[in-house]
Amino acid sequence: MYSKRVQKLLANANPGDRVNVNGEYEGVLMPRTQGDADAVILKLDSGYNVGVKPEKIRKLKGGVALENFAAKKIKKKSGLPNLAFIATGGTIASRVDYETGGVKMVLTPAELFAVVPELEGKANFSVSAPFTLASEDITPKDWVKLAEECVKKLNSGAEGVILTHGTDTLGYTAAALSFMVDSPKPIALVGAQRSSDRGSFDGALNLSCATQYALSESREVAVVMHASYDDDYCFAHRGTKVRKMHSTRRDAFKSVNDSPLARVYPDKTEFLQEVRKRGAGDAVSRAAFQEKTGFVKVYPGIDPEHLEWFVDKGYKGVVIEAFALGHVPTLTTNKKKSWLKVMERATREMPVAFATQCIFGRVNPNVYRNLRVMKELGVIYCEDMLPETAFVKMGWLLGRGEDPREKMLENVAGELNSRLTEKHFI
Ligand code: ASP
Repeated sequence: MYSKRVQKLLANANPGDRVNVNGEYEGVLMPRTQGDADAVILKLDSGYNVGVKPEKIRKLKGGVALENFAAKKIKKKSGLPNLAFIATGGTIASRVDYETGGVKMVLTPAELFAVVPELEGKANFSVSAPFTLASEDITPKDWVKLAEECVKKLNSGAEGVILTHGTDTLGYTAAALSFMVDSPKPIALVGAQRSSDRGSFDGALNLSCATQYALSESREVAVVMHASYDDDYCFAHRGTKVRKMHSTRRDAFKSVNDSPLARVYPDKTEFLQEVRKRGAGDAVSRAAFQEKTGFVKVYPGIDPEHLEWFVDKGYKGVVIEAFALGHVPTLTTNKKKSWLKVMERATREMPVAFATQCIFGRVNPNVYRNLRVMKELGVIYCEDMLPETAFVKMGWLLGRGEDPREKMLENVAGELNSRLTEKHFI
């Protein structure tokens, strides 16, 4: 919704109209999707979109008809299982109408169903959209909202959840839901690398497979995305062990230090490892997050001030993406660059955890002297946990009032894998 002030200014102008804003910008008024309630979006003649805070809006001649995308209401049929369909935005919910220059950025779930008609007949979907955001704009507060929405839906008859989400931070949200929802039923997070107006749209297969996984025997939170470049099947990756490993490829998501849980086809799920099985009973929310949780990556020559900042600002815990086995600059001859002092201070004030920026493999505090020094300070070495997962887990534990020094290395949702083998490195 626009703010009252903008609604007044827009009394005579509709999306698709050509308008002049503030006597300065001329272009086509775009439909409002999200963001600042005090701004309007214009498509300029150059093709670029701009957001402008309007003081004056004047309607001009020469608007365009914005395309209306087909929408499909999936009819409820008796005998079909119920699934929750929670939509949050991202590329899977985007479409650009290049021809008219009109943009309708956000597909409603009904419009998405029109693009993926195969979903009809698989389940009865109970649709909700708690917010519409690109995933780069999603915050831990939204994770809590989503966890609560999943629990609400699961406890009102849903056999599983499909949650559509932008891909950029899909791994973080998957980890958050893995910790925050104790679910007896599967939760499938799904996105798309290409929007539905493109021939290479990957969302159709991803959605079909996510639906299949949400109906499966598993009760794990998983990310269901293309397994390869082809349109044949997806992998279901454990929510705490998955990472976006490529900025554009359709098979960007990989399991890290783990095998995928399952190979998922539109009509069957083949499990590739033991999973916790679907059960009866209610889902329970364990949603909480301490927002004063820090996350920092070390780099050669990094100034210890980076960590000092978190301590000064009263952060309650920090995860550090350390080098390889868990190194930070320690015994360097350049005293100003040594992290020893700041680590002494930080570990006195809050839990500090190390995860490896190698991504694959595990940290190990016992191999080198530098590492042992840090271990003696009480640093938590996060084994083979993904740095992002370690960050989410630290914030979640702190939010619940639990001590990460005691709980960080307790396996809650498969985030720790004690048996890494050859096959876990791709
Ligand atoms: N930036 C988008 C997002 O994460 C990209 C995508 O959805 O793939 O929301």
